[in-house]
Amino acid sequence: MRALIVRVLTRRARHMTNQPDDGNAVKAELLGSTVPVQATGDHVPDPARLKQPLEGPGSIVRSFCIGCGQYYELTAEGAQQIIQWDDVTIPDDLKGNFLRTASCSQCDGIDPVVELVPIHSLVN
Ligand SMILES: [Zn+2]
Repeated sequence: MRALIVRVLTRRARHMTNQPDDGNAVKAELLGSTVPVQATGDHVPDPARLKQPLEGPGSIVRSFCIGCGQYYELTAEGAQQIIQWDDVTIPDDLKGNFLRTASCSQCDGIDPVVELVPIHSLVN
């Protein structure tokens, strides 16, 4: 991936000899913006999506951010990190549940609330 990015940057640089040197604009254009997604809140998860089989190696549970609407698959370590308290033990079997977060690493929300929610409790 790094080789590809270097190649693209080099190719672009040849075509930009008369342009101002704005490396950040080039990076943003090629790699995407790093500005956080706005946490507007009140996003509602799709139960059908939450029920789909986990795909990532080591994934034990899905999470959904109601701040920005992002879905994630979490490993046990990842789940423990978003819960953050060492004295909270994640149940061994999370099947049928998901973690509902008020904010996440992708959005600008700052609410740390995380809830373990049964998927069947969601209204379709
Ligand atoms: Zn979020």
